[in-house]
Amino acid sequence: MRASVDNRHVCGAERIVPEELVDRTVRELRDRAMQRGALPDQTTVAIDAIGATAIRTHGSLDLVTLSASEPISSRAAASQILQTAGVSASAIRMAMEQIDRGAAPSGANMRGAMIMDAVTGERLEPDQERGIRASRFDWTDPALDEITRLLAAVGLKHHRTREALALATKVAHGPGMMAELCWSDEPDYTAGYIAARDFGYIRFPFLKQEGDRHGGRAFFVNHERPDLDSLIHYLEKTSVMIDRVGVCSAAIAPELFVRTGRNKHV
Ligand code: AMP
Repeated sequence: MRASVDNRHVCGAERIVPEELVDRTVRELRDRAMQRGALPDQTTVAIDAIGATAIRTHGSLDLVTLSASEPISSRAAASQILQTAGVSASAIRMAMEQIDRGAAPSGANMRGAMIMDAVTGERLEPDQERGIRASRFDWTDPALDEITRLLAAVGLKHHRTREALALATKVAHGPGMMAELCWSDEPDYTAGYIAARDFGYIRFPFLKQEGDRHGGRAFFVNHERPDLDSLIHYLEKTSVMIDRVGVCSAAIAPELFVRTGRNKHV
């Protein structure tokens, strides 16, 4: 589902459901678009048949919040942790600079993600204006209930976190994927995250300044000849259901995580 006001995207969501739940799900998605502050002037719901292709299942990444109170120290901690997963300091710096100024060649925010060589920072996505959109992922009903409960228990009640965790879980399992970096383009949503199979999903409440209209995503891929076609096919077309839920930990100070290393927060 995509909803827009004055041609500006304001709301989007995606589900994977059995055929008998399509009608109900379309109504739920339409209601969600209507419940926003400004009534959308266009809402589009597209229904794609997944067909006979196999659906993959994954457990969600473990999640922790590193509670630095401003972007500079948050980005420094994010960079240090990304480097433990094999992303170079210069590739991280390039990703952050590009997201900060609008990563599309026109200077706009991209609709999708950059794909970056994890060593050189070279942009590899075929369309740099649009980027690559990860699609076709969802929680099973029991996993959705469980993750909603676990996130609420650590104070994360916004549906954005749940949806970003699902996206990051799918992305992290892509062939040749090393890590992801993301912050939102919504001016009043300052939180962002880094994610990898290596260290899980690490959320920072302030990866950018309040009021900043720039945001984006970088997918860092293995420098050793990544098979880009397979990766892009996986990100866009392979259906992934998240049927198990990882650990969700209470917030800790970034120094604690950086000092203790990968996944020691659990
Ligand atoms: P959001 O977290 O929805 O505010 O999105 C932040 C940025 O991530 C957007 O500006 C896009 O550049 C990118 N993005 C949003 N959705 C996707 C997606 N499904 N796949 C890849 N990149 C995305």
